Amino acid sequence: MPSSLCETVTNSVDSLEFPKHDDWITSGKMGSRDAVLVFRTNILNPKTRKNLSESYSSPVLPESCSNMESTIVSRKGEHDMSSLSLPSCSNEALNGLKQRKIYVSFRNAVHIKQTENSDFQNTAKKINKQYSSSDASMSSEGEEPTRNIQNKFRSLKNNPNDINSNLAEDVTKESGYDSATPAKSITNISASEEDECATEDDEECGIVMPAYKLKITYKFIQTETKLLRKIFDVHGLREVEGDSNFNLLWTGVHMKLDVLRNLAPYQRVNHFPRSYELTRKDRLYKNIERMQHLRGMKHFDIVPQSFILPLESRDLIIAHNKHRGPWIVKPAASSRGRGIFIVNSPDQIPQDEQVLVSKYIVDPLCIDGHKCDLRVYVLVTSFDPLIIYLYKEGIVRLATVRYDRHADHLWNPCMHLCNYSINKYHSDYIRSSDAQDEDVGHKWTLSALLRHLKMQGCDTHQLMLNIEDLIIKAILACAQTIISACRMFVPNGNNCFELYGFDILIDNSLKPWLLEVNLSPSMGVDSPLDTKVKACLIADLLTCVGIPAYSPEMRSHYDSKWSRFRSSSCQRSTNVPSGQHKIKKNKKKGSVSTDQLTGEEQRILRNARLQYSRRGGFERIFPTDDSMQRYGNFLDSTNGIPISTPNVQGQTFQTLIMQHNYNQMLHSNLYCHDKSDIIDDNLEKSRIKQYERALETGSEIPFVKKPAVEKSEEEGRRQRKLMLKKIGNGSELTQFQARQTFSLYLESVLRRLTQDPKDNHEKIVLKFLNKFGGSVKPPVLFRNTQSMKVISKARSAMVAKLLGDFLENYKRDTEAYVDSFDHFGMIPSSAYNQFLTHAQESDLEAILTLHTNVTGIMPFLYNRCGLSVPPTPPIPSGLHGFLRALPSMVSSSGIAREVSKYDGYFRNIDKDYENVQEISIRPKSSRRF
Ligand code: ADP
Repeated sequence: MPSSLCETVTNSVDSLEFPKHDDWITSGKMGSRDAVLVFRTNILNPKTRKNLSESYSSPVLPESCSNMESTIVSRKGEHDMSSLSLPSCSNEALNGLKQRKIYVSFRNAVHIKQTENSDFQNTAKKINKQYSSSDASMSSEGEEPTRNIQNKFRSLKNNPNDINSNLAEDVTKESGYDSATPAKSITNISASEEDECATEDDEECGIVMPAYKLKITYKFIQTETKLLRKIFDVHGLREVEGDSNFNLLWTGVHMKLDVLRNLAPYQRVNHFPRSYELTRKDRLYKNIERMQHLRGMKHFDIVPQSFILPLESRDLIIAHNKHRGPWIVKPAASSRGRGIFIVNSPDQIPQDEQVLVSKYIVDPLCIDGHKCDLRVYVLVTSFDPLIIYLYKEGIVRLATVRYDRHADHLWNPCMHLCNYSINKYHSDYIRSSDAQDEDVGHKWTLSALLRHLKMQGCDTHQLMLNIEDLIIKAILACAQTIISACRMFVPNGNNCFELYGFDILIDNSLKPWLLEVNLSPSMGVDSPLDTKVKACLIADLLTCVGIPAYSPEMRSHYDSKWSRFRSSSCQRSTNVPSGQHKIKKNKKKGSVSTDQLTGEEQRILRNARLQYSRRGGFERIFPTDDSMQRYGNFLDSTNGIPISTPNVQGQTFQTLIMQHNYNQMLHSNLYCHDKSDIIDDNLEKSRIKQYERALETGSEIPFVKKPAVEKSEEEGRRQRKLMLKKIGNGSELTQFQARQTFSLYLESVLRRLTQDPKDNHEKIVLKFLNKFGGSVKPPVLFRNTQSMKVISKARSAMVAKLLGDFLENYKRDTEAYVDSFDHFGMIPSSAYNQFLTHAQESDLEAILTLHTNVTGIMPFLYNRCGLSVPPTPPIPSGLHGFLRALPSMVSSSGIAREVSKYDGYFRNIDKDYENVQEISIRPKSSRRF
């Protein structure tokens, strides 16, 4: 530890005690360079939290005393390897920390800080509450992060005492980086869920944690945040926004390079640059295909044969002529099953958009007759050296409708696609209601699947080895470009980490196939089981990655070092002259003596060991004892970089600029010592055992289903009368109010349709979406309402999915209209919010109807002076009159009617119907594919 850091730490007053910080700090004593925060799931339990905040005694520091916080880190430079193991997470340990509670209310402190904004915030908070769905299953949680749902009200201001804030400001200005958060967000379902989710209790608990004292902050950008935010809050991390400095940046989208370039050593971000090489379906396939050519098909036969259209149309036809379809067609950059459809022959695929066409795996592994696929979580903490962990628990998703490979059923997404976002709308979809029920309903855990398969005599050991192998090979195939980007843009070895969601399909011979790799896998939860797995995953991830437990004073020390370093070079450096870079091997065992390692190598090795000791439920799958034997051939012999491009004149790009071989160095030091020296127990057998074990949590992790908003019917009627009167007297809704009302109205319709499907209402919704779905971004379109002729639960699910997708996009577009000022002739926002709080479907319908009739405009659908605004149609009176008029309110002219790439599944249904009829007159055998 550098002496100056010790000085920063020890010069401080030492009168304040930091109670039991050891429980929440690991890998070194507080104040040491390696010390990082510990995250645990048991404090998500309100009982544990209550005990904890009652038992801790900890004064809240007034702002003026903030620099005294460093007193808590009063031990000089200790790198105490004995403290590597995590303290027990049990409640008893936490309960044992009884001390007097003397702190000032955090709530009060925050209140003082926030009063300036409180008026706006209160209004906005109310709007958000009103504007929310009461049905958790209809919220956007689930498969994919909703865009940019930041909770304005929970974030704290930038700390004026933060020495780095100026630096951060400069950095962000320079980079041109803007938070994507709009000033006032109304993508409200999740926002209001956050409000429900984060309680006073969280805050009280948070302020006794070391992270709070150390002013550790996080920032969200375009991400699904509910569970993450809860975990951060209870651990005492504080949210910052805008240009504020952060310790952890969690984004749902790719990192901007300028943000990366300017990271300080203590900052962490949840993505590597150019991760899209792995997470874009087309890039992933191309990278793996290159490895198939370079290293041999037998080594990289891990993805279904695929083609990128229209470029490779000819190759697809040739392949189809060799081995007939079916083929599954996916938009190149889409998710949640959007735009996917299955065809029997390439001529059914439109040529006008870029899609990935893959061989459809017709013989999937089925559980009780239902097709399933896996979501496993893969953590990469470094690409050079490559360090990959696989989380021991994953999620198995089952299709709702029993699998039948007959071509008649190709149209049915609830049979062929396992996405939660599609299947959740099927009325037969079952959610397990108990976290212990791991093999109930349509979502299982990976460990439950393995136990189930083992009981049936399957070789689950080999299955998991094959899955590990598939993950490593996919990453090796994409690593080269990511490593180059890291060298160019990431200033410090520990800045980036990434959690990938690998979607894997297992066929009935137990061969795993990689379908795709998700950037920012969803942290949304829809059941107690989901909550358990994802909460443990996040807590283990944060502990394993390691958020440095530095106070701002300590950070500033690193910053000054960092600036000196940054001015000379952007690349990682070692503190040894290049001539001394050679790794000196111990002749006997091939091991490396650590004193002969460069400073950078020692840091890498120490980090790898510390990280491994904090791994929680993660299993390190690379490096392992046999990884060099298995994968050494795919690495460059000089620099250890995975090579996916052919050598140019015998030399690769990396060889020219790199003098080290970190993969070799790390492996040698972790695995080539005397057996007695090896502290690493990362053996195949113990890893596989872990995968079969159910996750254990110290205490129950509550799954809080968002409570239904209590609406008073009587108050609703009263408010509705008031509003009708105002509109009758000539007041108008602002565009924002009209769109709010329309979203809430469609939400009610969607809720009704999923609970009690009605054929004629489904048809109306389809007709409306058919005409208007193209007006949101991204568009929700399908070709023809005629395509959904067959009344079935699957059709109901498809309609609900379309409406759900439309609503999500519509609400996002509505953010652009947020307007909390009152305007002459318009309904005041506070009065209107009162109405929205209690409005039910019929109230919303009444307002929309009257407003349309009186004003002759439809601001919920069109801008007032749009060119292609159709005249308002007559709206039938009575219940659902507005719904019946809805399709005639929109004209299809002016909306791009090209066939959508977002709901292509529906596009081919017509063709499939034709095929079905055609096929049905053929002999039975030819119907099989
Ligand atoms: P998305 O990112 O839109 O979810 P995926 O590639 O994960 O797209 O595929 C969605 C679903 O389609 C998966 O859950 C899987 O069940 C099914 N699927 C995808 N590719 C194939 C394939 N080649 N063979 C069989 N089923 C597939």
